[in-house]
Amino acid sequence: MAMIIDGKAVAQRIRDGLKAEVAKLQKERGITPGLAAVLVGENPASKVYVNMKAKACEEAGIYSEKIYLPADTPQERLVNLVHELNQNKKIHGILIQLPLPPPLDEHTVLQEVDPDKDVDGFHPVNLGKLLSAKFWNELPPFVPCTPAGCIKLIESTGTEIEGVNAVVVGRSVIVGKPAAMLLLAKQATVTVAHSRTKNLKEICRQADILVVAAGKARLVTAGMIKPGAVVIDVGVNRMSDGKLVGDVDFEAAKEVAGSITPVPGGVGPMTIAMLLSNTVASAKRSAG
Ligand code: NAD
Repeated sequence: MAMIIDGKAVAQRIRDGLKAEVAKLQKERGITPGLAAVLVGENPASKVYVNMKAKACEEAGIYSEKIYLPADTPQERLVNLVHELNQNKKIHGILIQLPLPPPLDEHTVLQEVDPDKDVDGFHPVNLGKLLSAKFWNELPPFVPCTPAGCIKLIESTGTEIEGVNAVVVGRSVIVGKPAAMLLLAKQATVTVAHSRTKNLKEICRQADILVVAAGKARLVTAGMIKPGAVVIDVGVNRMSDGKLVGDVDFEAAKEVAGSITPVPGGVGPMTIAMLLSNTVASAKRSAG
């Protein structure tokens, strides 16, 4: 039976550490880290995420602003807002909650965020630096939060990443690709599988570390997992009965894996912890 990786507990430890760090920054240097979260439109899941992020900021002593804009906001207005936030001295991190409602163009809007306040790590400058980093110590100041959280969870198990076979299922810019880059920077041998991959089962079974971010409920079954592997399930899928499940068939997979994240309570809490961590790091950087 696998060890269940408690993402909530790992995230809480990080958040407790950040809270202490923020208190110290305020006391010794008069700096309060600040995060602006911009939400366009009425997507209910996005609203929940933005509220969770703002609440987490509050708990850690981080100043936060939630900015709500209507779904029909013209792109120019959104870009102007981003420019204002770039100049705002109270704000060290800018988060544009995705997806943006059409016809807004995410790529264009994300490019306008100051790379030094890009706490989501989605600006092309930071993504480019992630691509060019050969080793972990060459990574840009901000890397995407969800994959960064995946690495922390793998490390929390004490598993050696260097030299092992890691398979990432999914190639999105938000999760799959940066997860692959981070695992490479940790010196794993990385394979990326995606929707057109043939023999997904055989590829997954090679994985000492398996990161799954496909957005397909229970895509990965127990028979696709190498006995003893570390399985990180990024997927969040809501079933017709309202239950949340991951991309891995958790109940069966936990009998084969060495360690495995649950959904919920695995990767999700880590995404928020890494966002706070990036915001605090940004405040420290801006203070020199
Ligand atoms: P996405 O839809 O952008 O990408 C999904 C990827 O999976 C694609 O690259 C696609 O090629 C691949 N894929 C789809 N079907 C496949 C199949 N049958 N076999 C192999 N590969 C397949 O999604 P995303 O934004 O990367 O998110 C993936 C999942 O992770 C979603 O469930 C999302 O809700 C979840 N997610 C969770 C968090 C968190 O904090 N917990 C954060 C981001 C995303």
